[in-house]
Amino acid sequence: MTDDVAPVESLDPALRRPLTFSARRRARPPRHLADAALPERGQWAVEAGVPAFRADQLSRHYFGHLTRDATAMTDLPVAGRETLVERLLPALLTEVRTLEADRGATLKTLWELHDGARVESVLMAYPDRITVCISSQAGCGMACPFCATGQMGLTRNLSTAEIVEQVRHAARTSADGALGAPARLSNVVFMGMGEPLANYAAVLGAVRRLVEPVPGGFGLSARSVVVSTVGLVPAVDRLAAEGIPVTLAVSLHAPDDALRDDLIPVNARWKVGELLDAARRYFEATGRRVSIEYALIRDINDQAWRARLLADELNRRGRGWVHVNPIPLNPTPGSMWTASDRAVEAEFVATLTRAGITTTVRDTRGSDIDGACGQLAAQANKGGAR
Ligand code: SF4
Repeated sequence: MTDDVAPVESLDPALRRPLTFSARRRARPPRHLADAALPERGQWAVEAGVPAFRADQLSRHYFGHLTRDATAMTDLPVAGRETLVERLLPALLTEVRTLEADRGATLKTLWELHDGARVESVLMAYPDRITVCISSQAGCGMACPFCATGQMGLTRNLSTAEIVEQVRHAARTSADGALGAPARLSNVVFMGMGEPLANYAAVLGAVRRLVEPVPGGFGLSARSVVVSTVGLVPAVDRLAAEGIPVTLAVSLHAPDDALRDDLIPVNARWKVGELLDAARRYFEATGRRVSIEYALIRDINDQAWRARLLADELNRRGRGWVHVNPIPLNPTPGSMWTASDRAVEAEFVATLTRAGITTTVRDTRGSDIDGACGQLAAQANKGGAR
């Protein structure tokens, strides 16, 4: 250990909060076909007074044609069509605003949910793929001190359909050419607001809707779905046993418990070694290479010795099972934490690469539009987004 790193506690005590799961009591979101698997949807159609096969038709419109516009559903009887759509495909998200960055290749949308809670999603065009980054919770209870969302606390979990609707909207937006030319949404990453594995049942339901073929879901490839976690070890093992080989991304950010205890409060419960063991088990169960996310924070976690320690921790669990993504920190307003110097970042990457670890610096999208997760919603909560 070096002693040239200021302990995190001394940086900004106001940013260090205990874990908070004090979600406000709120009315449940309206029931939506995307909340359920196909057989159950038929029952809901019957409860709405129409034959079960109408649920199949509605599902094809929603997951296949990416619409909840009743006027486009010409295979449904005109009488009662709008009411049926309102009942089974209710509006769940209201767009508050959308900001554009990276010359139109990034669209970040702030959504209001039925109860006033707000979340964000980000749609990004790359040369070889279209990716949407979605939220799984309004706010987050994990209290990571470098993260805008962590500073808001947890408002509530999103329902499966509220998560799925972010994807449906992104797919529709992309198909309509909003990113430059009509394109098919190909990738979904659970890296927006919230800790996905802390809302396990709803997130797993959403993952099933993403990968099931139409009319069950969107028919995306499981390998193009990324579920991230800061380290809820039992939930990682549970996900490994689901038989859906999505990519697991572990937000590690430090290879040593001394620092990670401060950066990721849940590390007090599950230590680095336990988390990496669970990540390795995930690889063995699914065959999917695990991503290690590492936000590079200047003078906090970016030392070459930490890169060597990270490489050692990964290599002693095997070779070729993991991929490291260093991410230049996207600073949050009011925080003194910022991204590492370019030279330091390069040395960090070179150290990992020399140790045989596949390493790719992730680009940070939308840094000119409050790109760090939770910044738009945090600003909106102060009344600044409209
Ligand atoms: S980094 Fe992720 S887990 Fe931590 S507070 Fe932010 S959203 Fe939550």
